[in-house]
Amino acid sequence: MSLDLTSVIRTIPDYPKPGIMFRDVTTLMGHPEAFSQAIADLTAAYNSHGVEKVAGMEARGFIFGAPVAERLTAGFVPIRKKGKLPYKVSSETYQLEYGEDVLEMHLDAVEPGDKVLIVDDLIATGGTAEAAIKLLEKAGAEIIAAAFVIDLPDLGGADRIRSMGIDVSSLVS
Ligand code: IMP
Repeated sequence: MSLDLTSVIRTIPDYPKPGIMFRDVTTLMGHPEAFSQAIADLTAAYNSHGVEKVAGMEARGFIFGAPVAERLTAGFVPIRKKGKLPYKVSSETYQLEYGEDVLEMHLDAVEPGDKVLIVDDLIATGGTAEAAIKLLEKAGAEIIAAAFVIDLPDLGGADRIRSMGIDVSSLVS
């Protein structure tokens, strides 16, 4: 029997600022069956795609992306906020829902032609995912898809990423 994942995602009104309905995925992560189901579903969708690397965005993309990578027998690529990675990096500035930020990836994290799956907890405007895609494409990766636990379709992010020619999926909308 599968669980309705929406039932274990908490909504926090007016966080981080008035008018924002923040989808708090920590309640899903803390629920053993829901977390296991989310990882299994993300993995099942891509286990026949020859994924060689899973790229996850700091910080919640690490929590979902790393177990998916392990189950796909793929490597994990951390895409981090500015100044966190120790080796040479490629950088992309992007707009988020609540400001501007920079994402970085190690220059040698992917090889040209690597088949990469992007994983994050949530897509809103798509700015974060677009920056990750640009980093991976600059490195010559072949992006298989971008997979999210939650899509907020009213914010248009999934359509924005699809318009870049990238397949997008989410477990809940
Ligand atoms: P976007 O760049 O506007 O698509 O925002 C997505 C990024 O912001 C993801 O990395 C999310 O972790 C984070 N984010 C935006 N809104 C929410 C939310 O309501 N809940 C949890 N994370 C969010």
